[in-house]
Amino acid sequence: MSQEFELIDRYFKREYLRADILVENGDDCAVLLPPAGKSLAVTTDTLVEGVHFLADTPSDLLAHKALAVNLSDLAAMGASPAWFTLALTLPEADERWLQEFAKGLFTLADSMGVALVGGDTTRGPLSLSITAMGLLPEKGGVLRSGAQVGDDVYVTGTLGGAALGLRALRGEVSLPSAHEYMCVERLQQPQPRVMAGLALAPYVTAMIDCSDGFLADLGHILSASGADAVIRGESLPMLEAVSERVKEQGEWALPLAGGDDYELIFTAPPSRREAIASLVDVLDCPLTWVGSLFAGEGKINVQAPEGGYIELPEAGYSHF
Ligand code: ADP
Ligand code: MG
Repeated sequence: MSQEFELIDRYFKREYLRADILVENGDDCAVLLPPAGKSLAVTTDTLVEGVHFLADTPSDLLAHKALAVNLSDLAAMGASPAWFTLALTLPEADERWLQEFAKGLFTLADSMGVALVGGDTTRGPLSLSITAMGLLPEKGGVLRSGAQVGDDVYVTGTLGGAALGLRALRGEVSLPSAHEYMCVERLQQPQPRVMAGLALAPYVTAMIDCSDGFLADLGHILSASGADAVIRGESLPMLEAVSERVKEQGEWALPLAGGDDYELIFTAPPSRREAIASLVDVLDCPLTWVGSLFAGEGKINVQAPEGGYIELPEAGYSHF
């Protein structure tokens, strides 16, 4: 057997007891059987060394993140994750690296009940590309375009931690070690809000996952839906490490424009407030009401705690 197939066999082949996998990886294609009456949600995200992660990032964390960012997209549609494929480009076949990679990958995959059903393995500069597939009710799927004037705006979890973690890793800021640990964890091991996405789907009008920064991603909902938003700056949920910097140094760019948090931003009519608040008890993350939608074409105003509006940072990361 060639080294390539041995590698795939050793690290990426597993026994699944899923009745919806008719042919698993090892053949020309995987063959999957979506349940009758469901639609398929499909998403791809790629991580490239130097662009999405620093060189020397431990491989278990890379694998976690590559899968997490894809599951986060499924979560933002309200989809239930089912299967994924992995296209892996490696400069060399390092056993230790692969072992840790597989551990990180399957720890998250198993916890979310999602199965690796195929992929591609090639040699070249390190990059990981995952395509994840999830199931939706037949006419389901929470879009960016459904938000209505008058809706509330919410966010799961906290904002700005990953961006601060990146700055700490680069040595640009120095944080107390407990704060640094929490922020770096937010950067390297984001928890995709899969359960929250599923639980929220029946109540929300629009949803998106926050990868490029709160303003940029909320902006996508607003331009797709045709509305303006007013956000209360003091309501934005933040880790203490982040809120301290906001308070002491006015670094609103952290929660407003920091990328990589992988939280969900969503809108819902005020009539859903109670239903949404009651979900907090069953979910492992806070759901915070941060503002409201008004008639408009996509503008965002953020109220400063001391009155007036916050001057907004440049929105979002763009590759080109
Ligand atoms: P082909 O030449 O038909 O594209 P490959 O040689 O690329 O097939 O892959 C052989 C089998 O191994 C396929 O079933 C493919 O899905 C699977 N595979 C390859 N790389 C991976 C990977 N990184 N993870 C999971 N399965 C993989
Ligand atoms: Mg191939």
